[in-house]
Amino acid sequence: MVPPPPYIPAMTGHRQDTHGLSPLTDTELQRRPVFDVIVVGGGHAGCEAAAASARLGADTLLVTHRADTVGELSCNPAIGGLGKGHLVREIDALDGLMGVVADRAGIQFRLLNRRKGPAVRGPRAQVDRGLYKDAMQRVLSEQERLSVVEASVEDLVIVEGEGGVPHVEGVVIASGREIRGRSVVVTTGTFLRGLIHIGEHSEEAGRVGEAPSNGLSHSLGKLGLRLGRLKTGTPPRLDGSTIDYSQLAEQPGDNPPEAFSFLTTEITTPQVVCHITATTGATHDIIRRNIDRAPMYSGRIESTGPRYCPSIEDKVVRFGHREGHQIFLEPEGLDDATVYPNGISTSLPEDVQLAMLKTIPGLEQARIVRPGYAIEYDFVDPRELSAALQVRKAPGLYLAGQINGTTGYEEAGAQGLMAGLNAALAAQGREAFTLDRADAYIGVMIDDLISRGTEEPYRMFTSRAEYRLSLRADNADQRLTAKGMEIGCIGPIRRSAYGDWQFELTAARAMAASF
Ligand code: FAD
Repeated sequence: MVPPPPYIPAMTGHRQDTHGLSPLTDTELQRRPVFDVIVVGGGHAGCEAAAASARLGADTLLVTHRADTVGELSCNPAIGGLGKGHLVREIDALDGLMGVVADRAGIQFRLLNRRKGPAVRGPRAQVDRGLYKDAMQRVLSEQERLSVVEASVEDLVIVEGEGGVPHVEGVVIASGREIRGRSVVVTTGTFLRGLIHIGEHSEEAGRVGEAPSNGLSHSLGKLGLRLGRLKTGTPPRLDGSTIDYSQLAEQPGDNPPEAFSFLTTEITTPQVVCHITATTGATHDIIRRNIDRAPMYSGRIESTGPRYCPSIEDKVVRFGHREGHQIFLEPEGLDDATVYPNGISTSLPEDVQLAMLKTIPGLEQARIVRPGYAIEYDFVDPRELSAALQVRKAPGLYLAGQINGTTGYEEAGAQGLMAGLNAALAAQGREAFTLDRADAYIGVMIDDLISRGTEEPYRMFTSRAEYRLSLRADNADQRLTAKGMEIGCIGPIRRSAYGDWQFELTAARAMAASF
């Protein structure tokens, strides 16, 4: 393997504030013999899973590599979009976190497809990466019955259950300590045997600068689960102060901004504009000349990537006739000059990435803060799961997020919510909570995954939902909040707001009927 290039930072980057999310010490952990639910991984699936489990009253432990990366947006600084916005509203309707957190961190809100029918409108927001992570950590730190431990989970505690069926009853962390739990939710994202590629360089990593998770992949294999390999990629990050915006079209947000959460009454974070540019014929020539240095075309990467979010080299090869491909220049934060050029995800070598930028209007002088890269990782065939996201072959074990073959924060968050609820319900000896295709996009996604599996990173679209005329983003609360109240995962603030809203709706309907 070629040694890592010097620009991939080591895991020992400086620690950031964890916003009240204080991990248990070893001694504190020792005093806790068994948790109801252990959640592995503090990404989007893990945060929702841990919070949902704790909301149901389960004593919950979140084990993750680092508390300061909890809620990290690995790729673009945006939440929602077509189909994805529906998922965020559904998470919110079940009192999940993503919508509330995105409302606090959002710096540009847009309702996509505004001119089309309500069924296909998709709320989306550009978010401040730092504010999003801060808000997520803060919300989790305020959640009762939720503790956090910083550790790498290397193995699962597997015991023989009834009829010789393996039962998962805890995790083993890198120090060798066993932590016992009645249910375990694994949400390790792109970390399972993660391998990063930039041009001719490859490096084992779960995300840039973070170690991969190899032990857990082995444990899942030991349980007899079918594992596959997928790939995704991200564009270079740019120094915004080196971009010439004067020649670029502006893209403003909606005014007033439309929030995600049914509880948000006002967006108070300052709003910004984005800019739009596009690749040129010269960019495409550079890509074609260097295509043999792209890991996807040189044979270094064999796994399948997201068809609907292709790399720029893939776009040029597959849609060579196009004159230019749009690039949205998305600011990463209010106090952060970094810009995310949405549309040019790439794993070409850094010198080619730089040469490409020089041919793109506005980016001729742009400085790369961090090069784009691709990552390959293991996933579990989701047909191994039940509708409650429990592994059929190993009761006690739940999987959620990218590990199940999906891509995207929203898909991960929605699965995390469902897996967290079901892990807690099982620990409490209660019946599973499932949603079907007529209830929610969450039901559509889980049904697609567990019945058909996936051969490429699965992402949500409105076209996947056959009941989309009734499953709208604007009525997620009407469809789901009462169901959440029945199982007890809705907190007092939302219960009261929902009650008031129902009262007003009933009165309005009665008035309309009286005319
Ligand atoms: P993650 O957000 O990856 O979180 C995993 C968490 O688990 C991390 O906190 C990690 O520290 C922790 N963890 C892992 N292993 C262990 C262990 N053994 N012990 C303890 N903790 C552990 N999505 C898109 O929609 N479009 C894109 O174009 C896109 N591009 C991407 C490009 C890259 C390079 C990457 C890395 C991701 C990309 N994504 C993209 C995917 C998006 O980031 C994920 O879908 C989403 O983050 C998945 O959420 P998750 O909770 O499943 O996992």
